Amino acid sequence: PTSLLWFRRDLRLGDHPALLAALEAAGPQGAVLPLFVVDPALWRPSGAPRRQFLRDCLAVLREDLGGALVIRGGDPAGVVPALAREIGATTVHVSADTGPYGRRRDAAVERALGATPLVRTGSPYAVTPGRITKSDGSPFRVFSPFARAWRAHGRRAPAPRPAVVPWLTGTASDDLPPAQDLGGVRLPAAGEDAALAAWGRFREERLPDYPGTRNRPDTDGTSRLSAYLKYGCVHPRTLLADLDRTDGEEPEPVRRFTDELAWREFYADVVWHRPESVREPLDPRTGAIPYDSGPAADELFAAWAQGRTGYPIVDAGMRQLLGEAYVHNRVRMIVASFLVKDLHLDWRRGARYFLQHLVDGDLASNNHGWQWVAGTGTDASPYYRVFDPTRQGRQFDPEGDYVRRWVPELRDLPAAHVHEPWLAPGGVPAGYPEPVVEHAAEREVALARYQRVRSA
Ligand code: FAD
Repeated sequence: PTSLLWFRRDLRLGDHPALLAALEAAGPQGAVLPLFVVDPALWRPSGAPRRQFLRDCLAVLREDLGGALVIRGGDPAGVVPALAREIGATTVHVSADTGPYGRRRDAAVERALGATPLVRTGSPYAVTPGRITKSDGSPFRVFSPFARAWRAHGRRAPAPRPAVVPWLTGTASDDLPPAQDLGGVRLPAAGEDAALAAWGRFREERLPDYPGTRNRPDTDGTSRLSAYLKYGCVHPRTLLADLDRTDGEEPEPVRRFTDELAWREFYADVVWHRPESVREPLDPRTGAIPYDSGPAADELFAAWAQGRTGYPIVDAGMRQLLGEAYVHNRVRMIVASFLVKDLHLDWRRGARYFLQHLVDGDLASNNHGWQWVAGTGTDASPYYRVFDPTRQGRQFDPEGDYVRRWVPELRDLPAAHVHEPWLAPGGVPAGYPEPVVEHAAEREVALARYQRVRSA
């Protein structure tokens, strides 16, 4: 028999339960056809960095498969059943997709496949979203109890990498999807080996200091694994298994890093239970918060998007986004808070912009990251928490090295003024804007708007 393995967000061969299921279905005499479908519904809105990274990952995967990867473009509900018929596949194997679009798409593919089963084995998460609920069966809405239950839930051991896979060859394939014009953006090296190498380096060199450096955008303190996790070049279960090797009590760096992986799983779980929450506020009371719109708001949005707000840490973050298709987590929180609470713009506008530019752009992590900052989402909705961009800058980029790396106009300012260039003896350096708004005043405006909605 022949089985079809349809790759999606699992572009690797190690720790891949769906691959093992496809192998088993094919049996000792059979073969497995590896497929990737370039789906216009996902390709089009992805933005150049993510498209290019996906293309690079597909090139590596094709090589890892000895050239056997079949690439086809189109609606999967047409492409997958047609190919299954073409090669006489008896089963189609996937890792489950638990996002709103993926669920709809897979249901459509399943219907179109008719009698040929679509077999879901594993998912991009250590614990498949939807598995963990409170004791009364309702979903978690707060991170800490979710993380406790997630840790206690237990998980599968990593799946062994098969020594040999009888890949079916000779089936017609399209070329790789088109290369993208990145305008100088540098992307991480693509593929499974690159992901494992990045993980190995982080574990050896930076994990021990992670609790102290993870919040410091001026250091290389975090793993930079997010794009690899997004496309499944490495599975979180592999990471967790490596971390588990430490004996006895969980060291603090391991606990902290595991918590970050748990946030990713938490947001996917929230989206599983509440798919509409990628577009609507999770907390319906906050749906009435007014946001600004119109030409003046558009101008402020443009200043934010281009990194020209006059607040150095905000501008550095937005320029990192355009330069690396990535932003440090602390700075994602700062720039998001600035858009929503200093400029009073809708978090969805910022979330959309992030998804166009991030190489790790992920609907669940991104949109719920934005909702958390906006105070409309999970946890105790910290609406009263308004990040002060100057204080955040001084605290987390104390020497100003991060700002200087991304905002060359401020390169000559000393640490004392780099986060407040308007206080520098010579004034704001030429070419750098004055602040577009005054933080202290806008903070009051934001709090008043939130307060009104809460007391209504
Ligand atoms: P590390 O600190 O090394 O963390 C390891 C892994 O844990 C990450 O790769 C990621 O998979 C996961 N993780 C860490 N923090 C979070 C978090 N707060 N929420 C969910 N998962 C987390 N992450 C994305 O992967 N895609 C996004 O589109 C995205 N958008 C965000 C938008 C906003 C407004 C905010 C505040 C956060 C967003 N994050 C997103 C979460 C976080 O910023 C990134 O995962 C992290 O910066 C990636 O860098 P890293 O791999 O070096 O992280």
